[in-house]
Amino acid sequence: ATQAKYSSLDVPQEYVSRTPPYAKLIEKLNVVKKIVDNKPLTLAEKILYSHLVDPEESLASCKGQLSNIRGQEYLKLNPDRVAMQDASAQMALLQFMTCGMSKTAVPGSIHCDHLIVGKDGAEDDLTKSIATNKEVFDFLQSCGEKYGIQFWGPGSGIIHQIVLENFSVPGLMMLGTDSHTPNAGGLGAIAIGVGGADAVDALTGTPWELKAPKVLGVKLTGHLSGWSSPKDVITHLAGILTVRGGTGYIVEYFGDGVESLSCTGMATICNMGAEIGATTSTFPYQDAHRRYLIQTDREPISKAADAANKEFNFLRADEGAEYDKVVEINLSELEPHVNGPFTPDLSTPISKFGDTAKKENWPSTVSAGLIGSCTNSSYQDMSRAVSLIKQAEDAGLRPKIPFFVTPGSEQIRATIERDGLIDTFEKNGAIVLANACGPCIGQWDRTDVSKTSTESNAIFTSFNRNFRARNDGNRNTMNFLTSPDMVTAMIYSGDMNFNPITDSIQLENGKSFKFQAPVGEELPNSGFIKGRKEFYPEANPQPKTDVEVNVSPESDRLQLLDPFQPWSGDELSTNVLLRVEGKCTTDHISAAGAWLKYKGHLENISYNTLIGAVNKDTGEVNKAYDLNGDQYGIPELMMKWKDEGRPWVVVAEHNYGEGSAREHAALSPRFLGGSIILVKSFARIHETNLKKQGMLPLTFADEADYDKISPCDLLTTVDLKDMIAKDGNNGGVLRMKVTKKDGTEFEILCKHTMSKDQIEFFKAGSAINHIGNLKRE
Ligand code: SF4
Repeated sequence: ATQAKYSSLDVPQEYVSRTPPYAKLIEKLNVVKKIVDNKPLTLAEKILYSHLVDPEESLASCKGQLSNIRGQEYLKLNPDRVAMQDASAQMALLQFMTCGMSKTAVPGSIHCDHLIVGKDGAEDDLTKSIATNKEVFDFLQSCGEKYGIQFWGPGSGIIHQIVLENFSVPGLMMLGTDSHTPNAGGLGAIAIGVGGADAVDALTGTPWELKAPKVLGVKLTGHLSGWSSPKDVITHLAGILTVRGGTGYIVEYFGDGVESLSCTGMATICNMGAEIGATTSTFPYQDAHRRYLIQTDREPISKAADAANKEFNFLRADEGAEYDKVVEINLSELEPHVNGPFTPDLSTPISKFGDTAKKENWPSTVSAGLIGSCTNSSYQDMSRAVSLIKQAEDAGLRPKIPFFVTPGSEQIRATIERDGLIDTFEKNGAIVLANACGPCIGQWDRTDVSKTSTESNAIFTSFNRNFRARNDGNRNTMNFLTSPDMVTAMIYSGDMNFNPITDSIQLENGKSFKFQAPVGEELPNSGFIKGRKEFYPEANPQPKTDVEVNVSPESDRLQLLDPFQPWSGDELSTNVLLRVEGKCTTDHISAAGAWLKYKGHLENISYNTLIGAVNKDTGEVNKAYDLNGDQYGIPELMMKWKDEGRPWVVVAEHNYGEGSAREHAALSPRFLGGSIILVKSFARIHETNLKKQGMLPLTFADEADYDKISPCDLLTTVDLKDMIAKDGNNGGVLRMKVTKKDGTEFEILCKHTMSKDQIEFFKAGSAINHIGNLKRE
């Protein structure tokens, strides 16, 4: 009876977000199947296409060929739900408020995690962070109450862990305003990281547009054992594919090896798919999913296990489905990997790490170890780490370096506390931080190494990202990403040359100690417990229209938004403000750390714009030059040119905007008067974010043209009006006239990927302006 109830067409509305209405999705998929002449589909395609608003419209020109869809068609999708973290939720909700709706069209959740500092331990850090960020948390809470969005307050946990524990379910399609949203793919969902403006599409019921991704299959064979862990699958894959290898793809795992993974392990793998630029990653339905759904006991989601079981065939790739590319990994041969520094794709197997560290002149010692975060704080991760700590404890060893543990959620924290794991951590010198992002996002108030230290130091973390200055604000801290097992073993050695699989540690009594491989439990034997009640929101909040959302005009943390100006209808004429050299991630474009506090105040946060960028023409960081040669900080020159009415363009190299879904990296340049970003290539989320904010993102048709451009050159579009008249043609080529300072002129070709809808964003000045116009019509 239960199965029939929850997998039928009449799923009660309040359960829709929790148990996908499989029958409806399958019905839509059958329409898609007819359009593609019954060709076998990958799982990614099945979930995505079953969420199309209108398959016949979206797939009209595919002529029955999947290759005419993948990488070609723009899909208009109806996501099932939206999750927002506190830093990005501020701007998402400020934008949502401008649309004048009284409630959201799909269920949403807000998670207070990024603004919590990590320093002394959970209690103290949380109290201080709540006091420091009260205005922002109050704003988010009042938005939650007014619009009926679930509010997960500070201390409740990290967005992705909470989503995995509460909302993710096989076949779900969701958006999250954070680049690691794909974490939910570990439970068989399609979960995509987006900017706030995309979240507003879903929250307002406006079809959300995505260029149909290609599908990259990762075939897993063999099985994990010993020291190898799910983290090593993705750190190894990042080494194979690089930070750009997943761009334009959904990564879909398949093969017998999948069966040896836990659900939370699959989430770790999907989480770090963001590090290879993938749109998202997902896994076919497994018994591990059923076990996790049942153990996490989410009323009424435990019924989802029954429903998913029944729809087993829907939740896996069709027999014979073809991938655009396939990578194979034999789990039985997989070694632990250590990735870094400064880029997540610099992957070194542990057996070679010591030699590589010496060769590269990396520090010879490790200065701190950090485990947990949204990437690696499952029960399995924590119990494996504790198994190593207990071995060391029995041998009389104490950690040599500071050790921090960040639980991903109150549920995990309370469960590992009940089972004695927290006690073991603390007795052995670990500092257990709040259930929040803390050191993973620059909110590490580190006391042993100063932010301005010019000496390199190395840290080992089980986090997912390692750009410069990301953790402690120090550009010379080298973050090496690895499994919690490797981090935990390393805190007892502190030597970069230490390989716990083969090496021993000398004990004071003259004996030597060698770790045995870690062992852990996939799920707690006694089940999960929820923990402190105060961390849990109302299960099904209803909008309360009488709630006031206050934003003080005096605030330096929050600022209501003024709409951006619509396109004038003329060609764009812009001066080159800066040519950026090399890697330019969203951390370079819109730094986090101390700047996070201004996420809700566009003017104030814009003073961080591109302050991490290297000027190609001078080699300086955060320096740009005015037409008369005067030197400015980059945001200061942007502001000056804005005040002078001089639109500008920034020119850059490959994978511009790599990293997070941070939409301030698009909002701030737009706010400061930018019109065009012209690069060799873009990271997907950032390119979309630029389009959403009414900017024109262009790539060089010939990369060599990057070298022909100089600061202060005048770049004028030649056929923009033509392109707009043709609704963008779903991408194409634009001519650009370059006028050098000495008056010489030449033309270059630039490519764009604007869809018909994105052209409307550009014309209206932003996607939000466009949605507002539609709602008013
Ligand atoms: Fe938080 Fe780090 Fe996870 Fe982002 S990657 S959600 S900052 S813990």
